[in-house]
Amino acid sequence: MSEEIWDVVVIGGGGAGLAAAVAAAENGASVLLFESEGELGGSTQLSAGLFTAAGTSVQRGLGIEDSAEKFFQHYMDLNHWRLEPGLVRTFCEQAGPTLEWLIGLGVEIPATVSGNAHQPGLCQAGVEDVWRGHVPKDQGYGLVQVLDRARRTLGVEVVLRTRVESLVVHEGAVTGVVADGIEVGSRAVVVASGGFAQNAELVARHYPDALAGGDSLFVVAAPGSRGDHLAFGEQVDASLAGDGWGLMLPTVYFQRYHHWQSGFPPKSRIHVNGHGRRFMDEDASYAVSTGIIAAQPGGAWMVFDEQARTSLPEGYVDWNAARVADEADAGRTLRAQTLRELAGLMGVPADAFEANVARWNAQLPNGIDDDYLRHRTLANKGSTAAPGPIAHGPFYAARLLPAELVCTHAGLEIDHDARVLDATGRAVPGLFAAGEAGAGILGLRYVGGGNAVANALTMGRIAGHGATQTHLREGSVSASA
Ligand SMILES: Cc1cc2nc3c(=O)[nH]c(=O)nc-3n(C[C@H](O)[C@H](O)[C@H](O)COP(=O)(O)OP(=O)(O)OC[C@H]3O[C@@H](n4cnc5c(N)ncnc54)[C@H](O)[C@@H]3O)c2cc1C
Repeated sequence: MSEEIWDVVVIGGGGAGLAAAVAAAENGASVLLFESEGELGGSTQLSAGLFTAAGTSVQRGLGIEDSAEKFFQHYMDLNHWRLEPGLVRTFCEQAGPTLEWLIGLGVEIPATVSGNAHQPGLCQAGVEDVWRGHVPKDQGYGLVQVLDRARRTLGVEVVLRTRVESLVVHEGAVTGVVADGIEVGSRAVVVASGGFAQNAELVARHYPDALAGGDSLFVVAAPGSRGDHLAFGEQVDASLAGDGWGLMLPTVYFQRYHHWQSGFPPKSRIHVNGHGRRFMDEDASYAVSTGIIAAQPGGAWMVFDEQARTSLPEGYVDWNAARVADEADAGRTLRAQTLRELAGLMGVPADAFEANVARWNAQLPNGIDDDYLRHRTLANKGSTAAPGPIAHGPFYAARLLPAELVCTHAGLEIDHDARVLDATGRAVPGLFAAGEAGAGILGLRYVGGGNAVANALTMGRIAGHGATQTHLREGSVSASA
């Protein structure tokens, strides 16, 4: 047992942990943060840093009126009201102030329209009518750098390459952690150890839908996403929330990397189902696209032509002309000289397939997609040139499926002060959680790019504040009990 008793020990140095550490230190607390890896950042550092928030100075700078109330309504509706409204309400109210706090610390988000998650400014995050996707300069890396600078200034101590093994629990209250076999005492502990995407056993148990990706499943979450929060939770009989939910992105079967490395499929493409019919806006946000694809009879295919293949830019690992040709040569991507022949290979009705390609050719290549309104999505992404028709053989079809595992939502149930609740709904004295480890806000539907980073930083900041308040640390019956 070390002699010193810290005010707050934080487990994990990603977005949630850094936000908690900085917020606690701003309140004058002594803070020690353990990070299992060789550097800070976790999945937050790998992310685009896209952050959903309402009523921000960035929105106002663009003349956009928005409010936490509207954000809340959209969030709850999209999640079918299967989340606790009080908790989500707190998140929606605090995401904006947390973004302003980050800007105050040095994060730069220009008040300009952004077409995607990589261009600093404000973009459409998901399917919201009022845009809420805030893209910071230097992305997730930039967020981590700013928070790391703040924690240094405030004197937060960091111990790298040290994986916290367990909590210290005394008469039902959390009084510290064990790391490297040594007990470290603290008045409060914040669990911010991320999700469990890198732990296949936990994925099978708590997010089995991810296994629908089969052999194509690949995980982009940071290596530290091992699900340690679930073991910590077992020590205090914590309640679990978000079980069975997470974020899978739709990809074709041969992708193995996040799109930054993988690249992007051709703009001139359609998605068709087992009936040979086009069924969606191919550029729809993953707030809804994953669910749409999963619901298709007979699975889903991405279809494009030779012109689209040869127009793919070089420099990406998966989406380049040579890679697609290799996949077709190997017989894994289907290739045929005619649409009718391709329909045969796909096992879909040829008449329907030909008619659907013809209908698409008559629409979007001429500027308007009456059926799925894809022209609107493309315009929101800043793309003005219409895609070419699917008209030049050979034609290609690649299996489309949700195979990219980004983050997981099952974690320790928290209340609106980010206190961990036990199975009876009571707050566990001394224990807070945030980010993917603290559950209840990330729901069955991801509300769009920025949902998880906003959750991590907003609830991390709330946890850091709560951990310095004696009455919250001591625990009491939660409002939700
Ligand atoms: C490629 C990619 C892109 C993404 N893009 C976006 C985006 O633009 N917007 C968005 O909202 N979401 C995005 N996400 C999801 C989002 O980044 C994460 O859900 C969020 O950042 C998680 O934050 P966190 O603090 O909970 O976890 P993390 O940032 O993963 O931090 C957890 C930290 O805890 C450490 N740790 C784990 N166990 C222990 C232990 N026992 N002891 C000590 N340390 C431990 C880990 O090593 C890690 O550093 C993306 C994710 C990925 C992988």
